[in-house]
Amino acid sequence: MTQFPAQSSVAAGPFSAWLRAMRRSLLGNEGMDVPCGDCVGCCVSGYSVQLRPEDHKAAARIPATFIVSAPGFTKGHLTVRPLSNGVCPMLDEGKCSIYSVRPQTCLDYDCRIFAAAGIDAGEGKDVINKRVHEWRFSYPERSDELEHAAVRAAATFIRDRRDSFTVRVPAGPMGIAVFAIKSYEVFLDAEISDKSDADVARAIIDAVRAFDSLQAG
Ligand code: SF4
Ligand code: SF4
Repeated sequence: MTQFPAQSSVAAGPFSAWLRAMRRSLLGNEGMDVPCGDCVGCCVSGYSVQLRPEDHKAAARIPATFIVSAPGFTKGHLTVRPLSNGVCPMLDEGKCSIYSVRPQTCLDYDCRIFAAAGIDAGEGKDVINKRVHEWRFSYPERSDELEHAAVRAAATFIRDRRDSFTVRVPAGPMGIAVFAIKSYEVFLDAEISDKSDADVARAIIDAVRAFDSLQAG
């Protein structure tokens, strides 16, 4: 588990309320209300921004030269290619120039997911990681603490016990964090420590599938 060094802190809000919002966001296109302040970490970190068909207002404002089709995204979907320095071409003087119509991917992105999971955003994501280390959730109820501990435990298990799974599980930070958000309830079980790694891995996959079936439904 990453140990975050002592430094400035930024309020991330009550954990359980954030967790519910994130799970709703993963199920639809509700987006996340992130108190980013002056941070533009996700606009300068080399991400290709997915453009879905419903992002037509954003697509109309982005020069065609920056829009490419890329492997790894849903067929027919396009992406906005970052500049060679990793900066989104739509960032202008530190602000998103298409903020009011920015793509759903930008609305959904919430780097608190890494703080929730206790992992970094990955290599080359220094600006995002700085903010990840600064976020501080609050715990108004005991359940906030328990749920955060469960999300962290899920992320740690998914990252460190890959051999226990009989199906492929995400290896990248965002994929691990999303899996943990979908399956954290497995780690609320007081008897989890009595279970074998194989049983825990199966329970995680079942939980993720149950969550994804809500998405499909
Ligand atoms: S890195 Fe986090 S805080 Fe910074 S702009 Fe992106 S979502 Fe907001
Ligand atoms: S479209 Fe706007 S919000 Fe999205 S990455 Fe680019 S500058 Fe940032």
